[in-house]
Amino acid sequence: MTASTSVTTSTSQPVRTRFAPSPTGYLHLGGARTALFSWAYARHFGGTFILRVEDTDLERSTPEAVEAIIEGMQWLGLTHDEGPFFQMQRMDRYREVVAQMLIDGSVYYCYSSPEEVEAMREKMRAAGEKPRYDGTWRPEPGKTLPAIPSDRTPVVRFKNPLEGEVSWDDVVKGTITIANREMDDLVIARPDGTPTYNFCVVVDDWDMKITHVIRGDDHVNNTPRQINILKALGATLPLYGHVPMILGADGEKLSKRHGAVSVMDYPAQGYLPEAMLNYLARLGWSHGNEEVFSIEQFCAWFDLDHLSKSPAQFNAEKLAWVNNHYIKLADNERLAGLVQPLMEKEGADFTDGEGVTKAPDLAKVIGLMKERANTTHEIAAAAMLFYRLPTPDAALLDQHFHAEAVAATVKPAFADFAERCKTVEWNKAALAPMIKEVLTAHSLKMPQIAMPLRLMLTGQLQTPAIDMVLELFGREVVLNRLQKYL
Ligand code: GLU
Repeated sequence: MTASTSVTTSTSQPVRTRFAPSPTGYLHLGGARTALFSWAYARHFGGTFILRVEDTDLERSTPEAVEAIIEGMQWLGLTHDEGPFFQMQRMDRYREVVAQMLIDGSVYYCYSSPEEVEAMREKMRAAGEKPRYDGTWRPEPGKTLPAIPSDRTPVVRFKNPLEGEVSWDDVVKGTITIANREMDDLVIARPDGTPTYNFCVVVDDWDMKITHVIRGDDHVNNTPRQINILKALGATLPLYGHVPMILGADGEKLSKRHGAVSVMDYPAQGYLPEAMLNYLARLGWSHGNEEVFSIEQFCAWFDLDHLSKSPAQFNAEKLAWVNNHYIKLADNERLAGLVQPLMEKEGADFTDGEGVTKAPDLAKVIGLMKERANTTHEIAAAAMLFYRLPTPDAALLDQHFHAEAVAATVKPAFADFAERCKTVEWNKAALAPMIKEVLTAHSLKMPQIAMPLRLMLTGQLQTPAIDMVLELFGREVVLNRLQKYL
């Protein structure tokens, strides 16, 4: 083999991973998953997780995006141990490395104008070759370089090896090998001296002693360039793992068409962070058939051996199912804190009810409502019936209470029921047999009492079990609401 450069890595080092977002927008699901994998890998090995903001694209980077990314990571609980480091604050360091490389000869000044570079690329394309820089200004032993034009500021190019290949064992994709002749002499510094993207990544990964680079596979093409520069610097190479992208259910790259792609849209839509973490963890990684697991369990299991080579598909129904799982597990007081503001927006009244009693305890109501809720919004919608005055539909009230056919039996039963309500012990255990006694005494069936009762108390025919509804409203509210029908 020629100057084959298979990667030697130091895996005995303490694990140091990083998440390196470009702050050009919100934290999207793909970015969050990359962050989660990097974070969990560091946690698994008791290593260090670093947050690095790649903000050198001044046109597209914004402080709002930095905020949004940090907020998204905080919501998910992906805490970083070092950083955030901002590339814009490391410019001196990049310039220092460029200067050192100019001295050691691994990079060179290139005075070709952009037009000249385009012309040489065009020529290569025409000749059926892969377009690249033709090496006009690349110094070689015995080669005479052109005279330096007085009117031009040079870029700095990396002296990519001409022979051999770059090869690395990608922890997700397996061995990837690229011939060096496929690669250009990359511009690492622009005419004004500012370093370019790949170069900053290299210097950062080197300085930050990153041991494992876990990132989206849209960066696979950058990796051989970065490896070559790292080698020229004499750096220990990290291990690379390129995670396939997330697709929508239709097999297309995940985008807004598929619903929310910003992580922070999910708390707004009533998802819990532990559900999102669990769901993201399973997008492209598996541990047998395990579907639901805690974040602690995930960190204990997570390794790079079970990352999938093929793209994962986002499935909103599954995320909703996972969310329902965590809603059922969640503490009701915590859910109340999330649900109450949603209900207030819908006009729910949490003040003590009707001047006579306390509003039903929201945590208890949630305990009753959460079983079938996929989101906190669904809990809120279901819980509203306890926090607004009922406006029963007149036709339904007629049907279940006033109509001649029912009134003769139902009305006396209601009077009896209301009377017993005054003295019965006010809890489900006592209310349930009391209702049964009323039914027996008046030869009625449960729906004949429960339906009109539901209408009068809540304005709707569907509610949780009536004895539970009664308990939660409290004696005073129940008697108050029944009063006008007796
Ligand atoms: N800044 C890059 C991005 O947001 C990530 C670079 C890397 O992980 O090496 O896509």
